[in-house]
Amino acid sequence: MTEFWCEYAWVDAAPVPKVLVTCGGDGVITEVRAGVDPTGTRLRGLVFPGFANAHSHAFHRALRGRTHHAGSFWSWRDSMYRLANRLDPDSYQRLATAVFAEMVLSGYTVVGEFHYLHHQADGRPYVESNAMGLALIEAARSAGIRLTLLDACYLTGGIGKPLQPEQARFGDADSSAWAERLAALPEEPGFKVGAAIHSVRAVPADQISTVAAAADGRPLHFHLSEQPAENEQCLAAYGMSPAQLLNENGALRPPSTAVHAIHLSESDINLLGDAGSAICVCPTTERDLGDGIGPAVELASGGCLLSLGTDQHASIDPFEEMRGVELDQRLRRLSRGLFAPEDLIRQATVNGYQALGWEGGTVAVGQPCDLVAVDLDSIRTAGTDPRQAVMAAGAGDVSTVVIGGEVVVLDRSHRLGKVAQLLERAITPLWD
Ligand SMILES: [Zn+2]
Repeated sequence: MTEFWCEYAWVDAAPVPKVLVTCGGDGVITEVRAGVDPTGTRLRGLVFPGFANAHSHAFHRALRGRTHHAGSFWSWRDSMYRLANRLDPDSYQRLATAVFAEMVLSGYTVVGEFHYLHHQADGRPYVESNAMGLALIEAARSAGIRLTLLDACYLTGGIGKPLQPEQARFGDADSSAWAERLAALPEEPGFKVGAAIHSVRAVPADQISTVAAAADGRPLHFHLSEQPAENEQCLAAYGMSPAQLLNENGALRPPSTAVHAIHLSESDINLLGDAGSAICVCPTTERDLGDGIGPAVELASGGCLLSLGTDQHASIDPFEEMRGVELDQRLRRLSRGLFAPEDLIRQATVNGYQALGWEGGTVAVGQPCDLVAVDLDSIRTAGTDPRQAVMAAGAGDVSTVVIGGEVVVLDRSHRLGKVAQLLERAITPLWD
Protein backbone atom coordinates (compact mmCIF):
# COMPACT_ATOMS: atom_id res chain seq x y z
CA MET A 1 0.00 0.00 0.00
CA THR A 2 1.30 3.48 -0.90
CA GLU A 3 -0.17 6.82 0.10
CA PHE A 4 0.01 9.93 -2.08
CA TRP A 5 -1.00 13.19 -0.43
CA CYS A 6 -2.05 15.85 -2.94
CA GLU A 7 -2.09 19.58 -2.19
CA TYR A 8 -4.98 19.65 -4.67
CA ALA A 9 -6.37 16.73 -6.67
CA TRP A 10 -8.69 16.84 -9.68
CA VAL A 11 -11.65 14.82 -8.37
CA ASP A 12 -15.13 14.80 -9.89
CA ALA A 13 -14.23 17.49 -12.44
CA ALA A 14 -12.94 20.02 -9.89
CA PRO A 15 -9.79 20.74 -7.85
CA VAL A 16 -10.20 19.48 -4.26
CA PRO A 17 -7.69 20.50 -1.51
CA LYS A 18 -5.72 18.09 0.70
CA VAL A 19 -6.59 14.77 -0.86
CA LEU A 20 -5.05 11.49 0.25
CA VAL A 21 -4.98 8.83 -2.48
CA THR A 22 -4.25 5.29 -1.30
CA CYS A 23 -2.92 2.79 -3.81
CA GLY A 24 -3.07 -0.98 -3.31
CA GLY A 25 -0.29 -3.40 -4.21
CA ASP A 26 -1.89 -4.02 -7.60
CA GLY A 27 -1.51 -0.36 -8.61
CA VAL A 28 -5.22 0.40 -8.22
CA ILE A 29 -6.67 3.19 -6.05
CA THR A 30 -8.32 1.81 -2.90
CA GLU A 31 -9.30 5.04 -1.16
CA VAL A 32 -9.64 8.78 -1.90
CA ARG A 33 -10.14 11.09 1.09
CA ALA A 34 -10.33 14.89 1.14
CA GLY A 35 -9.38 17.28 3.94
CA VAL A 36 -6.48 15.15 5.20
CA ASP A 37 -3.28 16.58 6.74
CA PRO A 38 -0.03 15.78 4.88
CA THR A 39 1.19 12.20 5.12
CA GLY A 40 2.87 9.66 2.80
CA THR A 41 4.45 10.80 -0.48
CA ARG A 42 3.62 14.48 -0.89
CA LEU A 43 2.60 15.78 -4.31
CA ARG A 44 2.73 19.55 -4.63
CA GLY A 45 0.41 21.67 -6.75
CA LEU A 46 -2.57 20.19 -8.58
CA VAL A 47 -2.65 16.44 -9.20
CA PHE A 48 -4.50 15.32 -12.32
CA PRO A 49 -5.36 11.79 -13.32
CA GLY A 50 -2.87 10.57 -15.95
CA PHE A 51 -3.15 12.07 -19.44
CA ALA A 52 -3.70 9.82 -22.47
CA ASN A 53 -1.85 10.42 -25.71
CA ALA A 54 -4.42 8.77 -27.98
CA HIS A 55 -2.51 9.17 -31.26
CA SER A 56 1.25 8.80 -31.66
CA HIS A 57 3.75 7.82 -34.33
CA ALA A 58 6.82 7.72 -32.08
CA PHE A 59 9.37 7.88 -34.91
CA HIS A 60 7.96 11.17 -36.22
CA ARG A 61 9.62 12.83 -33.22
CA ALA A 62 12.87 12.69 -35.20
CA LEU A 63 11.32 15.15 -37.67
CA ARG A 64 10.85 17.84 -35.01
CA GLY A 65 12.82 20.95 -35.78
CA ARG A 66 13.79 19.64 -39.21
CA THR A 67 10.67 19.98 -41.36
CA HIS A 68 9.02 23.26 -40.45
CA HIS A 69 10.68 25.64 -42.91
CA ALA A 70 8.42 25.18 -45.94
CA GLY A 71 6.44 22.71 -48.01
CA SER A 72 3.09 20.99 -47.57
CA PHE A 73 1.65 17.96 -45.81
CA TRP A 74 2.80 15.94 -48.82
CA SER A 75 6.42 17.20 -48.78
CA TRP A 76 6.53 16.57 -45.00
CA ARG A 77 5.35 13.03 -45.77
CA ASP A 78 8.30 12.55 -48.18
CA SER A 79 10.73 13.47 -45.36
CA MET A 80 8.89 11.09 -43.04
CA TYR A 81 9.28 8.24 -45.55
CA ARG A 82 13.05 8.85 -45.84
CA LEU A 83 13.35 8.71 -42.07
CA ALA A 84 11.15 5.61 -41.80
CA ASN A 85 13.47 3.67 -44.05
CA ARG A 86 16.53 4.32 -41.89
CA LEU A 87 15.10 2.55 -38.85
CA ASP A 88 15.67 -1.03 -37.72
CA PRO A 89 14.31 -2.73 -34.58
CA ASP A 90 17.26 -1.52 -32.43
CA SER A 91 17.18 2.10 -33.53
CA TYR A 92 13.36 2.10 -33.47
CA GLN A 93 13.41 0.87 -29.87
CA ARG A 94 16.06 3.45 -28.86
CA LEU A 95 14.06 6.27 -30.42
CA ALA A 96 10.68 5.11 -29.06
CA THR A 97 12.11 4.65 -25.55
CA ALA A 98 13.32 8.26 -25.53
CA VAL A 99 10.06 9.56 -27.02
CA PHE A 100 7.87 7.62 -24.58
CA ALA A 101 10.06 8.90 -21.72
CA GLU A 102 9.54 12.45 -23.00
CA MET A 103 5.80 11.76 -22.94
CA VAL A 104 5.90 10.58 -19.32
CA LEU A 105 7.93 13.65 -18.30
CA SER A 106 5.19 15.74 -19.89
CA GLY A 107 2.38 13.99 -17.97
CA TYR A 108 1.29 11.23 -20.33
CA THR A 109 0.64 7.89 -18.63
CA VAL A 110 -0.76 5.92 -21.60
CA VAL A 111 -0.05 6.13 -25.32
CA GLY A 112 -1.80 4.79 -28.40
CA GLU A 113 1.00 4.02 -30.84
CA PHE A 114 -0.38 3.92 -34.39
CA HIS A 115 2.23 1.60 -35.80
CA TYR A 116 2.92 0.86 -39.46
CA LEU A 117 6.69 0.29 -39.77
CA HIS A 118 6.16 -3.44 -39.87
CA HIS A 119 8.84 -4.98 -42.09
CA GLN A 120 12.36 -4.45 -43.38
CA ALA A 121 12.90 -1.37 -45.56
CA ASP A 122 12.61 -3.44 -48.76
CA GLY A 123 9.35 -5.01 -47.55
CA ARG A 124 10.72 -8.43 -46.58
CA PRO A 125 9.47 -9.56 -43.18
CA TYR A 126 11.88 -9.86 -40.27
CA VAL A 127 12.41 -13.43 -39.00
CA GLU A 128 10.21 -12.37 -36.08
CA SER A 129 7.34 -10.88 -38.06
CA ASN A 130 6.48 -8.43 -35.26
CA ALA A 131 10.08 -7.39 -34.53
CA MET A 132 9.26 -3.69 -34.90
CA GLY A 133 6.06 -3.92 -32.81
CA LEU A 134 7.92 -5.80 -30.10
CA ALA A 135 10.53 -3.01 -30.09
CA LEU A 136 7.74 -0.56 -29.25
CA ILE A 137 6.48 -2.79 -26.43
CA GLU A 138 9.99 -2.94 -24.92
CA ALA A 139 10.34 0.83 -25.32
CA ALA A 140 7.07 1.47 -23.45
CA ARG A 141 8.13 -0.92 -20.72
CA SER A 142 11.46 0.90 -20.23
CA ALA A 143 9.79 4.31 -20.25
CA GLY A 144 7.13 3.12 -17.77
CA ILE A 145 4.16 4.19 -19.91
CA ARG A 146 1.05 2.11 -20.62
CA LEU A 147 0.82 1.23 -24.30
CA THR A 148 -1.95 0.33 -26.71
CA LEU A 149 -0.21 -0.86 -29.86
CA LEU A 150 -2.56 0.08 -32.69
CA ASP A 151 -1.17 -2.17 -35.41
CA ALA A 152 -2.09 -0.57 -38.73
CA CYS A 153 -3.12 -2.32 -41.90
CA TYR A 154 -1.46 -0.47 -44.81
CA LEU A 155 -1.80 -2.07 -48.23
CA THR A 156 -1.79 0.56 -50.99
CA GLY A 157 0.13 3.72 -51.90
CA GLY A 158 -3.09 5.63 -52.62
CA ILE A 159 -6.52 4.49 -53.80
CA GLY A 160 -6.00 1.91 -56.57
CA LYS A 161 -2.21 2.36 -56.49
CA PRO A 162 0.44 -0.15 -55.41
CA LEU A 163 2.75 0.70 -52.52
CA GLN A 164 5.66 2.89 -53.64
CA PRO A 165 9.18 1.53 -52.90
CA GLU A 166 9.50 3.93 -49.95
CA GLN A 167 6.27 2.49 -48.49
CA ALA A 168 7.29 -1.16 -48.91
CA ARG A 169 7.92 -1.83 -45.23
CA PHE A 170 4.44 -0.67 -44.23
CA GLY A 171 2.61 -3.34 -46.24
CA ASP A 172 1.30 -6.83 -45.61
CA ALA A 173 0.18 -9.03 -48.53
CA ASP A 174 -3.48 -8.37 -47.73
CA SER A 175 -5.77 -7.81 -44.77
CA SER A 176 -5.77 -11.51 -43.86
CA ALA A 177 -1.95 -11.57 -43.67
CA TRP A 178 -2.12 -8.41 -41.53
CA ALA A 179 -4.70 -10.09 -39.24
CA GLU A 180 -2.44 -13.14 -38.83
CA ARG A 181 0.45 -10.92 -37.77
CA LEU A 182 -1.84 -9.02 -35.37
CA ALA A 183 -2.97 -12.28 -33.77
CA ALA A 184 0.67 -13.19 -33.05
CA LEU A 185 1.25 -10.11 -30.85
CA PRO A 186 1.49 -10.98 -27.15
CA GLU A 187 -0.96 -9.83 -24.48
CA GLU A 188 0.92 -8.68 -21.36
CA PRO A 189 0.28 -6.48 -18.32
CA GLY A 190 0.67 -2.78 -19.06
CA PHE A 191 0.12 -3.36 -22.73
CA LYS A 192 -2.88 -3.82 -25.03
CA VAL A 193 -3.25 -4.65 -28.70
CA GLY A 194 -5.55 -2.61 -30.90
CA ALA A 195 -6.10 -2.43 -34.65
CA ALA A 196 -5.85 0.37 -37.17
CA ILE A 197 -6.84 1.08 -40.74
CA HIS A 198 -4.18 3.52 -41.86
CA SER A 199 -6.70 5.44 -43.99
CA VAL A 200 -8.95 4.88 -46.99
CA ARG A 201 -5.87 5.84 -49.04
CA ALA A 202 -4.04 2.78 -47.77
CA VAL A 203 -6.72 0.10 -47.34
CA PRO A 204 -9.02 -0.77 -50.27
CA ALA A 205 -12.78 -0.90 -49.63
CA ASP A 206 -12.95 -4.67 -50.01
CA GLN A 207 -10.30 -5.15 -47.28
CA ILE A 208 -11.76 -2.80 -44.64
CA SER A 209 -14.33 -5.24 -43.26
CA THR A 210 -11.62 -7.88 -42.63
CA VAL A 211 -9.70 -5.39 -40.48
CA ALA A 212 -12.86 -4.32 -38.63
CA ALA A 213 -13.71 -7.97 -37.93
CA ALA A 214 -10.16 -8.83 -36.81
CA ALA A 215 -10.26 -5.91 -34.34
CA ASP A 216 -12.84 -8.05 -32.54
CA GLY A 217 -13.85 -5.66 -29.77
CA ARG A 218 -10.37 -4.08 -29.46
CA PRO A 219 -9.91 -0.38 -30.17
CA LEU A 220 -9.99 0.29 -33.94
CA HIS A 221 -8.43 3.58 -35.09
CA PHE A 222 -8.12 5.19 -38.52
CA HIS A 223 -6.97 8.49 -40.01
CA LEU A 224 -10.04 10.21 -41.45
CA SER A 225 -10.29 13.16 -43.84
CA GLU A 226 -7.07 14.83 -42.76
CA GLN A 227 -6.61 16.51 -46.14
CA PRO A 228 -9.15 17.55 -48.81
CA ALA A 229 -7.30 15.43 -51.43
CA GLU A 230 -8.24 12.26 -49.53
CA ASN A 231 -11.93 13.17 -49.80
CA GLU A 232 -11.63 14.02 -53.50
CA GLN A 233 -9.86 10.74 -54.32
CA CYS A 234 -12.36 8.70 -52.28
CA LEU A 235 -15.33 10.37 -53.95
CA ALA A 236 -13.83 9.79 -57.41
CA ALA A 237 -13.09 6.10 -56.72
CA TYR A 238 -16.07 5.05 -54.64
CA GLY A 239 -18.70 7.78 -55.07
CA MET A 240 -18.76 8.46 -51.34
CA SER A 241 -16.80 10.19 -48.56
CA PRO A 242 -14.19 8.36 -46.44
CA ALA A 243 -16.60 8.37 -43.45
CA GLN A 244 -19.33 6.79 -45.60
CA LEU A 245 -16.93 4.21 -46.99
CA LEU A 246 -15.72 3.20 -43.51
CA ASN A 247 -19.31 3.04 -42.25
CA GLU A 248 -20.45 0.87 -45.17
CA ASN A 249 -17.70 -1.59 -44.29
CA GLY A 250 -18.39 -1.79 -40.55
CA ALA A 251 -15.44 0.28 -39.29
CA LEU A 252 -17.28 3.14 -37.54
CA ARG A 253 -18.97 1.09 -34.86
CA PRO A 254 -17.46 1.32 -31.35
CA PRO A 255 -14.88 0.96 -30.03
CA SER A 256 -13.61 2.95 -33.01
CA THR A 257 -11.76 6.26 -33.13
CA ALA A 258 -11.44 8.51 -36.17
CA VAL A 259 -8.22 10.51 -36.03
CA HIS A 260 -8.29 14.16 -37.25
CA ALA A 261 -11.81 14.09 -38.83
CA ILE A 262 -11.25 17.57 -40.25
CA HIS A 263 -12.82 17.89 -43.70
CA LEU A 264 -16.29 16.55 -42.96
CA SER A 265 -19.71 17.29 -44.42
CA GLU A 266 -22.74 17.67 -42.19
CA SER A 267 -23.84 14.16 -43.13
CA ASP A 268 -20.36 12.80 -42.23
CA ILE A 269 -20.68 14.43 -38.78
CA ASN A 270 -24.13 12.87 -38.30
CA LEU A 271 -22.85 9.51 -39.49
CA LEU A 272 -19.98 9.51 -36.96
CA GLY A 273 -22.27 10.62 -34.13
CA ASP A 274 -25.00 8.10 -34.96
CA ALA A 275 -22.45 5.27 -35.27
CA GLY A 276 -20.97 6.16 -31.85
CA SER A 277 -17.45 6.57 -33.22
CA ALA A 278 -15.02 8.56 -31.08
CA ILE A 279 -12.75 11.28 -32.51
CA CYS A 280 -9.09 11.95 -31.75
CA VAL A 281 -8.10 15.56 -32.34
CA CYS A 282 -4.39 16.43 -32.76
CA PRO A 283 -4.30 20.24 -32.66
CA THR A 284 -0.53 20.87 -32.71
CA THR A 285 0.03 18.46 -35.59
CA GLU A 286 -2.95 19.71 -37.57
CA ARG A 287 -1.57 23.23 -37.10
CA ASP A 288 1.98 22.26 -38.07
CA LEU A 289 0.94 20.35 -41.20
CA GLY A 290 -1.63 22.89 -42.33
CA ASP A 291 -4.40 20.30 -42.18
CA GLY A 292 -7.15 22.69 -41.13
CA ILE A 293 -9.47 22.97 -38.13
CA GLY A 294 -12.09 20.25 -37.78
CA PRO A 295 -15.67 20.59 -36.53
CA ALA A 296 -14.86 19.50 -32.97
CA VAL A 297 -17.79 21.39 -31.43
CA GLU A 298 -20.31 19.85 -33.83
CA LEU A 299 -18.81 16.35 -33.41
CA ALA A 300 -18.96 16.61 -29.62
CA SER A 301 -22.53 17.89 -29.62
CA GLY A 302 -23.42 15.12 -32.08
CA GLY A 303 -22.39 12.52 -29.51
CA CYS A 304 -18.75 11.77 -30.44
CA LEU A 305 -16.36 11.49 -27.50
CA LEU A 306 -13.25 13.57 -28.18
CA SER A 307 -9.76 12.47 -27.19
CA LEU A 308 -6.40 14.12 -27.90
CA GLY A 309 -3.09 13.07 -29.47
CA THR A 310 0.30 14.56 -30.27
CA ASP A 311 0.57 12.54 -33.52
CA GLN A 312 3.83 13.70 -35.20
CA HIS A 313 5.21 15.25 -31.99
CA ALA A 314 6.09 18.73 -33.18
CA SER A 315 5.10 19.24 -29.55
CA ILE A 316 4.62 16.77 -26.68
CA ASP A 317 2.57 18.68 -24.15
CA PRO A 318 -0.92 17.68 -22.99
CA PHE A 319 -1.75 21.24 -21.94
CA GLU A 320 -0.89 22.58 -25.39
CA GLU A 321 -3.23 20.00 -26.98
CA MET A 322 -6.05 20.76 -24.50
CA ARG A 323 -5.79 24.49 -25.12
CA GLY A 324 -5.43 23.87 -28.85
CA VAL A 325 -8.86 22.28 -29.10
CA GLU A 326 -10.59 25.25 -27.49
CA LEU A 327 -8.45 28.00 -29.04
CA ASP A 328 -8.74 26.59 -32.58
CA GLN A 329 -12.51 26.44 -32.20
CA ARG A 330 -12.52 30.07 -31.00
CA LEU A 331 -10.80 31.08 -34.23
CA ARG A 332 -13.20 29.00 -36.27
CA ARG A 333 -16.41 29.98 -34.48
CA LEU A 334 -15.52 33.55 -33.42
CA SER A 335 -16.63 32.92 -29.85
CA ARG A 336 -15.17 31.69 -26.56
CA GLY A 337 -15.94 29.03 -23.98
CA LEU A 338 -16.89 26.29 -26.44
CA PHE A 339 -15.12 23.71 -24.28
CA ALA A 340 -14.73 24.52 -20.57
CA PRO A 341 -11.44 23.52 -18.87
CA GLU A 342 -13.17 20.50 -17.30
CA ASP A 343 -14.32 19.36 -20.78
CA LEU A 344 -10.74 19.59 -22.07
CA ILE A 345 -9.44 17.64 -19.07
CA ARG A 346 -12.04 14.91 -19.66
CA GLN A 347 -10.90 14.67 -23.30
CA ALA A 348 -7.25 14.37 -22.26
CA THR A 349 -7.89 11.80 -19.53
CA VAL A 350 -10.92 9.52 -19.30
CA ASN A 351 -11.94 9.81 -22.98
CA GLY A 352 -8.38 9.04 -24.07
CA TYR A 353 -8.13 6.03 -21.79
CA GLN A 354 -11.42 4.77 -23.18
CA ALA A 355 -10.30 5.29 -26.80
CA LEU A 356 -7.26 3.13 -26.05
CA GLY A 357 -9.22 0.38 -24.30
CA TRP A 358 -8.13 1.20 -20.73
CA GLU A 359 -10.04 1.77 -17.51
CA GLY A 360 -8.75 4.98 -16.01
CA GLY A 361 -8.48 8.71 -16.32
CA THR A 362 -10.12 9.67 -13.02
CA VAL A 363 -8.89 9.88 -9.43
CA ALA A 364 -11.38 7.43 -7.93
CA VAL A 365 -11.53 4.11 -6.11
CA GLY A 366 -11.05 1.15 -8.42
CA GLN A 367 -9.14 3.19 -11.05
CA PRO A 368 -5.47 2.68 -11.86
CA CYS A 369 -3.28 4.90 -9.69
CA ASP A 370 -2.01 7.14 -12.50
CA LEU A 371 -1.29 10.63 -11.14
CA VAL A 372 0.35 13.75 -12.58
CA ALA A 373 1.43 16.56 -10.24
CA VAL A 374 1.53 20.02 -11.82
CA ASP A 375 3.16 23.02 -10.14
CA LEU A 376 0.81 25.90 -9.37
CA ASP A 377 3.66 28.27 -8.46
CA SER A 378 5.69 28.30 -11.68
CA ILE A 379 6.23 31.40 -13.78
CA ARG A 380 3.30 30.23 -15.96
CA THR A 381 0.87 29.08 -13.30
CA ALA A 382 1.51 31.40 -10.31
CA GLY A 383 -1.69 33.19 -9.36
CA THR A 384 -4.00 31.04 -11.47
CA ASP A 385 -7.29 29.59 -10.28
CA PRO A 386 -6.63 25.81 -10.13
CA ARG A 387 -9.91 25.28 -12.02
CA GLN A 388 -8.40 26.99 -15.06
CA ALA A 389 -4.74 26.01 -14.60
CA VAL A 390 -4.75 23.87 -17.77
CA MET A 391 -5.17 27.05 -19.80
CA ALA A 392 -1.87 28.35 -18.39
CA ALA A 393 0.34 25.33 -17.57
CA GLY A 394 2.93 23.67 -19.79
CA ALA A 395 4.64 20.27 -19.86
CA GLY A 396 7.54 21.87 -17.94
CA ASP A 397 5.24 22.33 -14.95
CA VAL A 398 4.82 18.56 -14.47
CA SER A 399 6.96 17.60 -11.46
CA THR A 400 5.95 14.04 -10.55
CA VAL A 401 4.27 11.23 -12.50
CA VAL A 402 2.91 8.06 -10.93
CA ILE A 403 1.84 5.14 -13.15
CA GLY A 404 0.12 2.14 -11.60
CA GLY A 405 1.27 3.36 -8.18
CA GLU A 406 4.94 3.53 -9.27
CA VAL A 407 6.76 6.85 -9.28
CA VAL A 408 8.22 7.09 -12.80
CA VAL A 409 9.06 10.81 -12.72
CA LEU A 410 10.18 12.50 -9.51
CA ASP A 411 11.10 16.19 -9.31
CA ARG A 412 11.19 16.41 -13.14
CA SER A 413 13.58 13.47 -13.46
CA HIS A 414 12.59 10.34 -15.33
CA ARG A 415 13.86 7.09 -13.85
CA LEU A 416 15.83 6.49 -17.11
CA GLY A 417 17.96 9.59 -16.47
CA LYS A 418 18.56 12.42 -18.91
CA VAL A 419 15.85 12.08 -21.52
CA ALA A 420 17.12 14.95 -23.68
CA GLN A 421 20.37 12.98 -24.06
CA LEU A 422 18.47 9.82 -24.94
CA LEU A 423 16.59 11.74 -27.62
CA GLU A 424 19.75 13.32 -29.02
CA ARG A 425 21.55 9.96 -29.19
CA ALA A 426 18.58 8.29 -30.85
CA ILE A 427 17.83 11.02 -33.40
CA THR A 428 21.15 12.52 -34.53
CA PRO A 429 22.58 9.29 -36.06
CA LEU A 430 19.42 8.92 -38.16
CA TRP A 431 20.32 12.11 -40.02
CA ASP A 432 24.09 11.49 -40.45
ZN1 LIG B 1 -1.31 10.01 -37.51
